[in-house]
Amino acid sequence: MNLKFLKKLNWKLIKKIKIEVLQINLGKKCNLACLHCHVEAWPTRTEELEEMALKDILEIIKKFPQIKTVDLTGWAPEMNNGFREIVDLSVELWKKVIVRSNLTIFFEEWYEYLPEYLASKKVEIVASLPCYLKDNVDKMRGDWVFDKSVKALQILNKLGYWKELVINLVYNTAMTDKKEDFELAPDQKQLEKDYKEFLSKNFWVIFNNLFAFTNIAAWRLKKYLKIKKIYDDYIDFLSFAYNPNTLENIMCKNQLSIDYMWNIYDCDFNQVEWVPAISNWKKITLKQILEENNLDLIKNVMTKDYCFGCTAWAGCSCGGALV
Ligand code: SF4
Ligand code: SF4
Repeated sequence: MNLKFLKKLNWKLIKKIKIEVLQINLGKKCNLACLHCHVEAWPTRTEELEEMALKDILEIIKKFPQIKTVDLTGWAPEMNNGFREIVDLSVELWKKVIVRSNLTIFFEEWYEYLPEYLASKKVEIVASLPCYLKDNVDKMRGDWVFDKSVKALQILNKLGYWKELVINLVYNTAMTDKKEDFELAPDQKQLEKDYKEFLSKNFWVIFNNLFAFTNIAAWRLKKYLKIKKIYDDYIDFLSFAYNPNTLENIMCKNQLSIDYMWNIYDCDFNQVEWVPAISNWKKITLKQILEENNLDLIKNVMTKDYCFGCTAWAGCSCGGALV
């Protein structure tokens, strides 16, 4: 536990509530290698979900009707082992399925089937588009990423995304090496309006919601800030904007985050920082959940100083602002 964050909480731990969301990172393969990537993904990485872990995950999805949402995330989930098995089973069991896609994967060999497949399964798509201007996106994510993303959005619109199916976009604040330029996520509704106006006017692209993310100082970003010697300044900047009202809806309370090696965490950021979820001072395992027939073994969330990123101002979660 992190003392600085705990002090802000008046030394009270964040309690878990009934688990309803299973967020799964299927592996580390991604067709892109974005500069801002907090998980160090790139195309030649080989780590992906082990068969035994996949078996346990499918079993858990089957066994616990309390799981309402299965959220496939991290890296490029579509490229990793278990993707279709998990989507197919979850849809069959009437769970909401979210896929966090970089969209450009639709144009890679073997993955052209994805738009029709995702539409046929009524999967909700959350896609990162860190800016609506081509130059900014290509600088952060690689050449032609903006054009491919727009083309993918046009394909999804034709398949019914935005009307009967849901496509949400994600905006990330740009990171700076100057402390006077630190930024929180901007007003989500205003930014969504700007994105919608620009994308519909210039590319006839429509989407449902925009999620604005504040940068969380974990893994690659944390290393970057430490190299630049502004890590503590960034944490202080976020802590000045701490908003206790965000705690009500914080995403780590009702979710389990699972990695490709069967480990369980409270959230994706704890996952990249290797901070496993704990019960009775021990790491929880998928097997233990199955054996004890209990998805609610974890009582408290493991917090760290990067939690200030989720609790600053309007808050931040995988579903955007919290208040
Ligand atoms: S698309 Fe996502 S996972 Fe892949 S490199 Fe970019 S930020 Fe990382
Ligand atoms: S980083 Fe955010 S989601 Fe993760 S434990 Fe901290 S507050 Fe919760």
